[in-house]
Amino acid sequence: MPENCIFCQIVAGTAPADILYKDEQVTVFKDRHPAAPVHLLLIPNRHIESLNHITEADGSLLGHLFTVARKIAEEQNVSQSGYRVIVNTGPGAGQSVFHLHFHLLGGGRLPILTR
Ligand code: AMP
Repeated sequence: MPENCIFCQIVAGTAPADILYKDEQVTVFKDRHPAAPVHLLLIPNRHIESLNHITEADGSLLGHLFTVARKIAEEQNVSQSGYRVIVNTGPGAGQSVFHLHFHLLGGGRLPILTR
């Protein structure tokens, strides 16, 4: 684990976070600067720098992250109203923490960025 990775520190319990869910593979916590009424981060417990660093061997981990996203969206009551999962990859896309994370955003009218 890179010692200066804030998300590794959150997984290890050495940095504070508002953790909603944790299992042997993933941790879910509130984003400290929420951009929507629900703004959570889902991360693998193992340090993976970005989507650029995943391999076929990470397939089941990524499937698990999406399944946890679906369950958390249900718990947060945004499944039906709508939510978005975003993975910023690289500085040009706005990635500022280089530990893979899914943003789960919902609870309001999200601007559509893809058309
Ligand atoms: P990104 O810009 O896609 O890399 O997203 C990083 C996100 O992590 C930002 O939305 C930050 O607000 C959030 N963030 C950074 N450090 C922390 C922290 N210690 N606890 C909670 N959220 C954090």
